[in-house]
Amino acid sequence: MAGKDTTPMTVYDLMAMVAKRLVGRDVELRFTPAAELKAGGCVRVGADGHRVVELATDHGGAWDGDMHAFLHELAHARFHAPKFKRSDTGRPPRWREPALKTKRTILQEAQADTMARYWLKWADEHRQDIPGATDYENRLWALTHWRA
Ligand SMILES: [Zn+2]
Repeated sequence: MAGKDTTPMTVYDLMAMVAKRLVGRDVELRFTPAAELKAGGCVRVGADGHRVVELATDHGGAWDGDMHAFLHELAHARFHAPKFKRSDTGRPPRWREPALKTKRTILQEAQADTMARYWLKWADEHRQDIPGATDYENRLWALTHWRA
């Protein structure tokens, strides 16, 4: 497409690239007000198997907590989503705090946190900072090249 290469890359574009790289397949990223989402993020699998990562809109700044929340959800999308029940991703997510945390839930949360910390460390070890870019952007750039 003419002019495509001159289109500025947005942070969203970068996040989508990172998501595809880290999850190993296309991921749809959506943003939802935190008050509705009632979590930093969530992962859903559509009827056709596509992954939707939903992030609270107060995410997207330049501090580690945000990056961690993003990477945490990507870890779920990579490792745990294959076993998720499929849902209608056309509807807004309905988060229910589980009445009882199962061993599996606790394990999955720990795995997602571990993977998020690993990716963040990898990003900091491999980043080649672009002048004027934020820490958040520079880490995203690094992660577009991630390789296990
Ligand atoms: Zn989680």
